[in-house]
Amino acid sequence: MILVKNVSKSYKSVRALIDFSYDFEAGIYAILGPNGSGKSTLMNVMTGNLKADSGAIVMGEGVGVPDYMLGYVPQYPGMYSGFTAFEMLDYVGILKNAEQRERQISRLLSAFDLEEYKNKKVGSLSGGTKQRLAIAQAFMGAPKLVILDEPTAGLDPLQRVKVKNFLAAQSEKMTIIISTHIVSDVENIANEVIFLKQGKIALSGGLDKILQIEGKCFCAPAEKMPQGFSGVHRLCGADVRIIAGQKPFDGANPVVPELEDVYLSIFGMGEEQ
Ligand code: ADP
Ligand code: MG
Repeated sequence: MILVKNVSKSYKSVRALIDFSYDFEAGIYAILGPNGSGKSTLMNVMTGNLKADSGAIVMGEGVGVPDYMLGYVPQYPGMYSGFTAFEMLDYVGILKNAEQRERQISRLLSAFDLEEYKNKKVGSLSGGTKQRLAIAQAFMGAPKLVILDEPTAGLDPLQRVKVKNFLAAQSEKMTIIISTHIVSDVENIANEVIFLKQGKIALSGGLDKILQIEGKCFCAPAEKMPQGFSGVHRLCGADVRIIAGQKPFDGANPVVPELEDVYLSIFGMGEEQ
């Protein structure tokens, strides 16, 4: 459906994206990686906001993604603060030549719990409400590709769940690409996961493929972890989960890996790289 072919992009000496290729079908794709791994660069190239140094985006028969087929939530969305929530959605609908705009707007206001803000100015909305409106506008018209760059920043846990449910319900009709460094945002909804590390794909594919780090993931009651243990680990309730080539200490037992464990196995414990 959308083919990204050998795309590279550098900013002066920084190689942000290196020979990235991927074939996107309908469904939800998660781009996971820490800050600086190249997620926004990939998304900006796919939306046409940034010109790649080399490579191409191919959708159907043509090169590039036509605007009316694209929904996009940038990492730092800018919206006209003088517009009401309704006007913001209507404006995007007009730009995309959307059919039955009023009906679409009602549906989106309802899906994102925005009805009470319909006639409120964007400038008066809280961060989380603005963010929901930013996500809602990406679904105006009939997009075939929706790109969401860290869309859940600023949302509370309940809102995150609602956004997740909405995305899951749309995913049969379109390609949805979500970047995040928060694994739980895409857990259970992503059809495929792409781990991006320093501009390159570290690991990608469906969950059955991604979760194959069996034998490298261990779990133990947290109090069994030796003082000063410096291996790759994360606390999980009263337990600690460890990524290691072999049993890390007494009391640790092999467990079935989760997406978060795979993230840890790729990126270690540092957030920046
Ligand atoms: P992510 O979205 O995963 O945090 P980015 O795509 O924003 O990653 O950044 C990838 C790399 O490119 C980082 O090293 C970042 O510092 C660098 N970078 C991003 N945008 C610019 C820019 N406009 N100018 C120079 N370097 C940039
Ligand atoms: Mg980014």
